[in-house]
Formats: sequence, C-alpha cells, structure tokens
Amino acid sequence: FFRQKPLEYYDKTEYHLGTYVTIRVSSSTMSPVTLAEAAMTEIKRIDDKFGSRNNGVIAELNRTGELHDIDKETSFLIRSALEIARNTSGAFDPTLYSLTRLWGFDDASSKKRIPSDKEIEDALGSTGFSRVTYDEELGYVSLVDGAMIDLGGIAKGYAVDMAIAKIKSLDPEATGFIDAGGDIGVIGPKYGNRPWIVGVRNPRGESVQDVLEYIYLYDGAVATSGDYERFFIENNVRYHHIFDPETGFPSRSGVISATVIGKSTMLADAYATAAFVIGMEPGVTFLPRFGALVLLVMEDMSIFRSPGFEVYQEK
Ligand code: ADP
Ligand code: MG
Ligand code: MG
Repeated sequence: FFRQKPLEYYDKTEYHLGTYVTIRVSSSTMSPVTLAEAAMTEIKRIDDKFGSRNNGVIAELNRTGELHDIDKETSFLIRSALEIARNTSGAFDPTLYSLTRLWGFDDASSKKRIPSDKEIEDALGSTGFSRVTYDEELGYVSLVDGAMIDLGGIAKGYAVDMAIAKIKSLDPEATGFIDAGGDIGVIGPKYGNRPWIVGVRNPRGESVQDVLEYIYLYDGAVATSGDYERFFIENNVRYHHIFDPETGFPSRSGVISATVIGKSTMLADAYATAAFVIGMEPGVTFLPRFGALVLLVMEDMSIFRSPGFEVYQEK
C-alpha cells in the first residue's frame, strides 16, 4: 500500500528588479529548494541584463546608441516591447528612460521631484518608440535623438516567465507560482488541480490583505500596475511612476490600478502598464484582441472589466 506524501510548498523571497520576488514551488521529484534557487538565479540574470541602471545590454545600448549582433533573447524582448507599443498606440512605450530618470523613479535612492515644464519638454524630445530602429535580420538596434530604453514595464513579467521555464526544464510537473511585486505567473495549479487565488489589492488600502476582487488561476499570468507602488505626494497631488508618453507627466486617466490576465507574465505586465495609461477609453476594450483581459479600478473605486475577465472570477 503506497500513500503519496502530501505536497508541501517551499517559499523563497528575495529583492530583485526593484521589488520583492516570491517563488512558491513544490515538486514530487526534486528538491523545491533547488528549483527555487535556480529560478531566483534566472530572475537575477534578467535584472542584470535588462535593467537600465545595470551593466547589461540595455545600459550599453543607452550609452552607445546602437547595438550589433544582439542575442536572441534581447531581440525577443525588444521586438515584443515594440509590438506592444504599436498595439497600444504608444500608451506602452519602452523609451521613457529620460522621463523615469528626470522624475527620480529610476532608482529607490534617486531624489523624486516635479521637473520644470522645460525639462519635461526636453525629455519628450528624446522619447517615443519611433526613435528606435530595430532590424531583426541584422540583429541591429539603434536609438536616435538621445532616446533611452526603459524596460521597467515589461522586464519583470519576462523575468517571471523565464524563471518558470527554468523550473519546468528541471521538473515539468512542478507546481506553484512566482510573484514579482504583483506580476504573477503560475508554474502549475495548487496541489496539481486547484487554482491559485490571487487578490486584487485595494489601491487605497492599508495592506496587501485589503483585497477588492479575487481571481482564480490554474495557469497563465496576471499583473497589476498601480499608482501606489512608487509615488510621492506634493501639494496633495500624487505623482507616480507610470507616465503618459504624450504629456511626460504621471498618467491621469482616472485609473488607480489596472490588472491584466494574460497568456504570459510578460504580456500581462506590459498590457497592465498600457491599460493604466489608456484608462476607460475605447482603446482599452481592444486589449482582449491581444489576449489581455483587463480589470480597472477607477479613482471613485468603481470597477470596469473587459469581456471575459469575469470567467476568472468564478470558483
Ligand atoms: P510596476 O513596476 O509597479 O510593476 P509597471 O509594470 O506598470 O509597474 O511598470 C512601470 C515602470 O515602467 C516604470 O517604473 C517605468 O520604468 C516604466 N514606464 C513608465 N511609464 C511607462 C509607459 N507608459 N510605458 C512603458 N513603460 C513605462
Ligand atoms: Mg507592467
Ligand atoms: Mg510591472
């Protein structure tokens, strides 16, 4: 008589990509500690490679203005970011590093401040995804007008996807999830057949326990962009880290958090940033066309769902 030991979940949390990353994993064939460590190493690798402030390819691209013979992974991430920028008419824009830096959102230690109109106007002269030339065949990417890439709205999701792929390469049957500051990808259903229950935070709540809505996920991913993650308040106005690429100011679409369910964490992450900027415009109803289901929490705490989102809210 053989009785299987109940699956136990192992948790590992570390600070990467400017946020806390939690890996919860279980395996019936391998040490979950080994799996979580391998996944965390992968997250760190992507942070180093694609962070604008680190010594990886994006930092080099921003410094030199062009890169030849880019590797497949860099090519995939840049191509994906540009495609999402096109799909969202530039609401998602991976070239806003000059703005991120100007407002002091490039790093936790940077001084946050409201720049002058002139500074913002100047910064807008070096943003916009049309300032990126990308040639897939040649493996070539170049920037004009001093444009600088900031993958902060997509790299966390991509890192989660890669970490999940790493775990699955070691144990295809592993289950669990990875949460990088609200960008969540499922490794496999809880105990093999139960959904993971993801809470959508009250953006004005005191703690993570203050939840407005629940989502049940067996696979795929969900990501939330909110004005409460990184912000400062001056004269009663909240200035946060998600910019309207047209104005150069923190976006004021009336959305205070945007949650997107997507096929990959990368897509959920990038489309959540886009949905936050687009707001309750007709544009947001187009996002399901790209596989992104949207839930918006508005300033008055009303909630908007794109068709199909509710399916993930039924037990
Ligand atoms: P979080 O980092 O809290 O998960 P997001 O995924 O929405 O939030 O990413 C916000 C980050 O993306 C910013 O810190 C900045 O680096 C970058 N960013 C800001 N505005 C935009 C935008 N309109 N499009 C793409 N990236 C953006
Ligand atoms: Mg995002
Ligand atoms: Mg994100």
